[in-house]
Amino acid sequence: MSLTDLSRSDLEAALEQAHADYEAFAGRGLALDITRGKPSAEQLDLAADLLTNVTADDCLSPSGVDVRNYGGLDGLIELREIFGQLLRVPAPQLLAQGNSSLTLMHQALSFACLFGTSAGTTPWAQQPRRILCPVPGYDRHFDLAEALGFELVSVAMDDEGPVLEQVEELVATDPTIKGMWLVPMYSNPTGITISAERARRLVAMKTAAEDFKLLWDNAYALHHLRQPHAEVLDILSLAAEAGNPDRVWIFASTSKVTHAGAGVAFFGASDAEISWFTGHLAAASIGPDKVNQLRHLRFFGDADGVVDHMVKHAEILRPKFEAVTRILGQRLGDDDIATWTDPNGGYFVTVSVMPGTADRVVKLAAEAGVKLTPAGSTHPYKLDPDNAVIRVAPSMPTLEDVETAVEGFAACVRLAACEKLLA
Ligand code: PLP
Repeated sequence: MSLTDLSRSDLEAALEQAHADYEAFAGRGLALDITRGKPSAEQLDLAADLLTNVTADDCLSPSGVDVRNYGGLDGLIELREIFGQLLRVPAPQLLAQGNSSLTLMHQALSFACLFGTSAGTTPWAQQPRRILCPVPGYDRHFDLAEALGFELVSVAMDDEGPVLEQVEELVATDPTIKGMWLVPMYSNPTGITISAERARRLVAMKTAAEDFKLLWDNAYALHHLRQPHAEVLDILSLAAEAGNPDRVWIFASTSKVTHAGAGVAFFGASDAEISWFTGHLAAASIGPDKVNQLRHLRFFGDADGVVDHMVKHAEILRPKFEAVTRILGQRLGDDDIATWTDPNGGYFVTVSVMPGTADRVVKLAAEAGVKLTPAGSTHPYKLDPDNAVIRVAPSMPTLEDVETAVEGFAACVRLAACEKLLA
C-alpha cells in the first residue's frame, strides 16, 4: 500500500520500522561509494593490451607516421576512420585529440568566446551569453559553461529528450542563447536517448542567435547495456539537410571504452567548423598524443573490434544495473514514494525520491556509510527546485557492494519519506 495513503498511526508505525531498518544498516559500519560513473578495475583490465602494444621498435602508424614525433594536428587518420564509422561522421570531419572530450568542449566554447564562431560573429565573451541545460543533466557541463561566464537556463526533459516547445520558444526569441548541451544517447543521468524526430527539430529550429551551437556530447554512443540497441543518429547530415550544417559540435571519447583519463577524445563537425576549430587549435598545440592513438588503433583493429569490446563491458555492467532496479523494486515498489529509470545504456540510474527529501536521503546515506552524489548535482547551480533527484552510479563497486549500497539507499529513501509525511 502506498505510504501516502496510510493513516497517521500507521505512518508512525512505518516510521518506527524505517528507523529500525536504517539503524540496523548503519550499524554495519560500511564504506560504500556510488557517486561517480567510473569504470571498475575489471572493465579497465579489458584494455590491458593498451599498456604494451606500442614498443620502441614498432611505432609507425599503418600510413607510416612515426607517432613519437610532432605533427598531425587532426590525429591519426586510421583511428578517425574507425570512430567516424561508429559516430557517423566522415573521417575528414572528425578530429582525434587528447585524453578528454570535456577539454574539447571547453576549447570549442572558449574559442567562440574569444574569437567568435566560424560565421565571423562577435566573440561571445563580448556579449551576454546563456546556454540551455536539459535537466536532469551532467554537472560538469554546467560547471564548464558557468566557468566561461554563461548563464545556465534549465529546460525540461521527457522520455524522448528535451521538451521542444520550451526550447524552440526560448531560442527563437532570445539572441543571448548561444548553445545547448545535449547527451543524445543514454544521457547522464537519466539514460534517455533522443528520438530522431526531436533531433531533427533541434537542428532545424529557428534561432535568434545566428551562431547557435548544439553541443552534441555523444559520450555514451557505444555503451549499450541491452540488445537490440539504439542507433547513432547521423546528426551532421540532418543538420545539413535542415540548412544548418554548422550548428552541431559532436564530442565523444574512449574514456569509458578503454582507460578513463587515458583514452582518446573526438570532435566532429562540418568542414567549416573543423577548419575554424583547428585554426585556433594550431596556436595551442603542435599535435595530439599519437602514441596513445596508435595504441588504441592497434587494440581495436577496426570498428567491429570496438563493438565487440563494448559487449564485454555490457556483460560486466548489466548485472549491476539490474541489481539496482531489482532492489529498488523490492524495497520501494509498493510505497509510491520514489520512481527510477531503467536505462538501456550509459552509466547512471536516476532516482526521483519524495519531493523535498533528496538532501535528507543523501545525508542519511552518508551517515550510514553510503556515499551518494550530492542532491542538486543534476541541476544548474546545484539547485534542484523539487529537491527530489538523485543520481546513482553502479559501475565502479563490485556487484555485492552495489547490492548492499542500494539496500541501504532504499532504507534512507523510506525513512526520509516517513519523516516528511509526518512533519
Ligand atoms: N560527457 C559526459 C556526458 C560524461 O558523462 C562524461 C563523464 O562522465 C564526460 C563527458 C567526460 O568525458 P571525458 O573523459 O572524455 O572528458
